[in-house]
Amino acid sequence: MKKGRVFSGARPTGRQHLGNYLGAIKNYVALQDDYDCVYCVVDLHALTTLRGTEHLKEWTYEMVLDWLAAGMDPELGTIIFVQSNVPQVTELHMILSMVTPLGKLTRLPTFKEKVQQQPDNVNYGLVGYPVLMASDITIYKASVVPVGVDQASHLELTREIVRTFNFHFGPVLIEPQAKYTEIPKVLGIDGVNKMSKSLDNHIELASEPDELYARVRMMVTDPQRQRRTDPGRPEVCNVYSLHNIFTPPETVQQIDADCRAAAIGCVDCKKVLAENLAGHLAPFRDRRAQLAGDPDHVWNVLNDGAQRANAIASQVIAEVKTAVGLP
Ligand code: ADP
Repeated sequence: MKKGRVFSGARPTGRQHLGNYLGAIKNYVALQDDYDCVYCVVDLHALTTLRGTEHLKEWTYEMVLDWLAAGMDPELGTIIFVQSNVPQVTELHMILSMVTPLGKLTRLPTFKEKVQQQPDNVNYGLVGYPVLMASDITIYKASVVPVGVDQASHLELTREIVRTFNFHFGPVLIEPQAKYTEIPKVLGIDGVNKMSKSLDNHIELASEPDELYARVRMMVTDPQRQRRTDPGRPEVCNVYSLHNIFTPPETVQQIDADCRAAAIGCVDCKKVLAENLAGHLAPFRDRRAQLAGDPDHVWNVLNDGAQRANAIASQVIAEVKTAVGLP
């Protein structure tokens, strides 16, 4: 007997990076044992930025290939599907928009950030993004949502929307809880911003060892360590934080001591990280290559997922419409 339903979604941005993996995908995989999991390629959300939409199909394929290679598995009952293939969610979006104060949406830090990033394209969809996200989650009656901490304010808003809806129309929707990994915010190779494809500060999971090394070599370390002879501060170094995940503990201890004593330079330290990262990701790369041998597989998984997601969404949207009183 499973404990309930999990939902999460990600924009089809193509090959996934370490931030996606450590912040979200690790939990997508782990939760499959105890929950019915529903994972969505949120292609409609991707339209809010309106760049490269002709690549959405290719990026969907690449992303789902990564997901499957990472261990998300329809054989375990997991539903993987494309958002626009289950259009009931847009109906729920419309209904939930009626119980969402506009001011709440325009005050969100994520909205303000987007306005800064694309001042010439502050579209209606961008404002409603979190309402569509609330619909994504609630149309599957999910109680748990594995996400990175950048999504915290959206999750909180979802909970508020659910409370307002249920107050007005009865206890139909479920208030979901966010579920974070131990590393809910992974920094990019710039060592400052969250790792993100749009900032080009990311490291892709599917990278070959030489690509991995090239990216790791670009990582910003302790800014106070200018010369090889300067002692370093592992606690402010993003290379060190990744060592903590991918390097055996004894080696991490040694690196900590050697860095502080300037006995190891950043170049050598990065070489060790790149090797350990490549080793850690080798089984993933092998599985990915194997899956890529049958390109139909990804589309079959998504077709099957859409059918199963449709069955749940149809039932919930009917319940919602009845509760609201739509004839
Ligand atoms: P991106 O940020 O690369 O555009 P998405 O916004 O589609 O990717 O995020 C997909 C999932 O991965 C979300 O749950 C998000 O919170 C998580 N995530 C993305 N980047 C990071 C990061 N740097 N650290 C932790 N989690 C992240």
